[in-house]
Amino acid sequence: MFRYNIDDRQQAIRDRVTAFAKTNIEPFSKELDHRDDPDRFAMNIYQALAKEGFTALRMPKQYGGGGVSSIEYTTLIEELCYNDAAVCLLDAVTELATYPIYTFGTEEQKRKYVPKCASGEILPAFVLTEPAAGSDAVNQKTTAILEGDQWVINGEKIFIMHGDVADLFVLFVKVEGGGDDDKASRKISAILVEAKKDGKYIPGVKTATLKKKMGMRAATTGRIWLENVRVPKENLLGEVGKGFKIAMNTLDGARIGVAAQGLGIAQRALQESIDYAKKRICFGQPIGKFQAIQWMIADMATQIEAARMMAYKVSMMQDKGEKFSIEAAQAKLFATETAKFCVDRAMQIHGGYGYIGEFSPIEKLYRDQRIMEIYEGTSEIQRLVISGSYLR
Ligand SMILES: Cc1cc2nc3c(=O)[nH]c(=O)nc-3n(C[C@H](O)[C@H](O)[C@H](O)COP(=O)(O)OP(=O)(O)OC[C@H]3O[C@@H](n4cnc5c(N)ncnc54)[C@H](O)[C@@H]3O)c2cc1C
Repeated sequence: MFRYNIDDRQQAIRDRVTAFAKTNIEPFSKELDHRDDPDRFAMNIYQALAKEGFTALRMPKQYGGGGVSSIEYTTLIEELCYNDAAVCLLDAVTELATYPIYTFGTEEQKRKYVPKCASGEILPAFVLTEPAAGSDAVNQKTTAILEGDQWVINGEKIFIMHGDVADLFVLFVKVEGGGDDDKASRKISAILVEAKKDGKYIPGVKTATLKKKMGMRAATTGRIWLENVRVPKENLLGEVGKGFKIAMNTLDGARIGVAAQGLGIAQRALQESIDYAKKRICFGQPIGKFQAIQWMIADMATQIEAARMMAYKVSMMQDKGEKFSIEAAQAKLFATETAKFCVDRAMQIHGGYGYIGEFSPIEKLYRDQRIMEIYEGTSEIQRLVISGSYLR
């Protein structure tokens, strides 16, 4: 279906994803969603994404990436999500975890890690959330203490995408004595942890795959325990006490990505609804002839257009180097709630055939969409960010 491009380069990305999806996503999508062994990371698809250059599309060229603009990256996520949101997440997590390294890392750190993340040689994870620190991310309990020339790390993390399989953790910790005042956010630092050596976890690292996840099943989510884990002093990312700033800056950009995820899933729900409304016959005519169905299609299409323009606008702001935190929060909030609206309407249009996964993809879209209103800042937190700025 027609998608409006505000930049000529967007169509090339759409065409690449469509070709990629035909051989690498479509044949495996159902199996990945319903497979019996959720512990098995979808490495074959991840490697195909890496080979195509999709895992590194936005990383700088000098570190092995594609060096594309934010608007091209937004388009990549939109189109991957249109095809399969869980496969899209495999891709998006690498950008989420690698962005802070190429933005805040030393030259040595960038050269050491970014090309390997870009090529799929190592799998990184963005490790912020803890059992008691989700929305309240400042409330970190994981600690790092400097002993000689090593950080000694203790704590527990939860809900980490690829946390159960990742080779490299971009880990957020509390450093006692860190920061230049008593403000809690200034105690937080970011440390790069090479979690595995020769394919095995280094001493003190333990992980588990979280089971019975509602959707996004091709991409695993993990829990991480760290007990007296020792990493070199030079693995600090940025300065001591700047970890919260690094995390929030990363999440600002990532929210544009989640807006694109919502957009892709909403567009797919609309397309499936249009196709179904033309072929499902009730009372002797296609259901698309009923005004009730026409209005649902009109509302979906209109909200999607608005979500699209918000996502593209904030991408352009990022490309121009403008401040975009508020617009990113607005785009994420609106696009993910649009996705919820659209998958819900799509299910209504499909009737019973929408509710049962073997008949249509709507049931999967419904499950995959739901997390988008929770991760990388819940809808409530987005509203706090937005209203805080307007009321200030
Ligand atoms: C599948 C999945 C993947 C994830 N991936 C990652 C990852 O890769 N890395 C990572 O670090 N984290 C990840 N997360 C964690 C995710 O970001 C958190 O779950 C999210 O930030 C919410 O935190 P919480 O679950 O602790 O909920 P809570 O913070 O406990 O929130 C519970 C409820 O209270 C509301 N609430 C909290 N504070 C306020 C407030 N001040 N005002 C109004 N309402 C409020 C929330 O909006 C929510 O509705 C992931 C989570 C999931 C489920």
